[in-house]
Amino acid sequence: MPETMKAQVFYEPEKMEMEDIEIPRIADDEVLLKVKHCGICGSDIAYYYGDSSLETETGKGPLVLGHELCGEVVEVGAIPKRLGLFAPGDRVAADPVQYCNACEICKRGYVNLCENKAVLGVSHNGGFADYCVSQYTGLHQIPENVSYEEAAMTEPLADAVYAVQKMAIQPGDFAVVIGAGVIGAMMVQLIKASGAGEVVFVGTRDYRLELGKTSGATVVLNTADSNSPYYTADLKETVADLTGGKFADAVVTPTGSVEAMEDALEISGRRSRIVYFGLPADDAVIRVPALNSIIWDKAIQFSWLAPHTWPTALNAIATGLVDVTSLHTHTIPLEDLVQGIADVKARKDNVLKALVTPGG
Ligand SMILES: [Zn+2]
Ligand SMILES: [Zn+2]
Repeated sequence: MPETMKAQVFYEPEKMEMEDIEIPRIADDEVLLKVKHCGICGSDIAYYYGDSSLETETGKGPLVLGHELCGEVVEVGAIPKRLGLFAPGDRVAADPVQYCNACEICKRGYVNLCENKAVLGVSHNGGFADYCVSQYTGLHQIPENVSYEEAAMTEPLADAVYAVQKMAIQPGDFAVVIGAGVIGAMMVQLIKASGAGEVVFVGTRDYRLELGKTSGATVVLNTADSNSPYYTADLKETVADLTGGKFADAVVTPTGSVEAMEDALEISGRRSRIVYFGLPADDAVIRVPALNSIIWDKAIQFSWLAPHTWPTALNAIATGLVDVTSLHTHTIPLEDLVQGIADVKARKDNVLKALVTPGG
């Protein structure tokens, strides 16, 4: 076992250095992983460019970013060892949101709202390094037929599962996903697998909308590009046409766009479920048409993180209900992370999910 490892250490906006740092030691309730893959998430880009503050005590670095990680167990703390939960060589995916399981809100079961949570790559060192420490309660064994590549995408998928559960899809439902990114494409697949009859995928870039088609969307709509074959100038009118004036049964918004969130209210019908997902700006406000929402008995909900949805997400991959492999378009060596972040931000080469591979 070496003493030091390579890690990308983030200090302040646009300052991240590849360094040799000590391999962390584990406490009794922790496990040391050799990181296999760590996905670049939109939030990593926001931290890197200073659009979001870290959740460290100071809100700043130094910190190793990266929260979409999986790896091989190399060392097991006393508690998981005694419980027989993990052993060196195990393939695991880490839920980066490491809740305490002991505060009042955790004890009520709403662990995503834990008052003491640590988040790998956000408040504690994450996966853009050769090794990473996780609390044993945050680890999930990767099913045998699921690759590390797929397992690295469990975190966004588990978030998508939680939101789609809130959509309460009924057989034959007309569902709409507004926001054509990786999570949107995952949601399309989950909604299909949940029994929806029609799934409309709405976005602003055709290459991402094509992905929705392969993910099972029955209709794709481009609301921005008038040269697109999928262009619609009036989303509400189009959804009205597609549903014979009934509008959608369920809508989810995997985007931080307030416009998309307000569109969701416009295109949803009687007894519909609207689920807001994706982080808007600090001061964002959604305007809700009050009377129509009440007399159509709508349910407006918000979705945050992935409480208790990791087993479902891993199962969905293992059973082939959700294909995440096609969403992985780029693989980036650890030393090229800064360039990788810039490329993902610029959506270079039609990038969808880029996975960083520490350890060469
Ligand atoms: Zn993420
Ligand atoms: Zn807690």
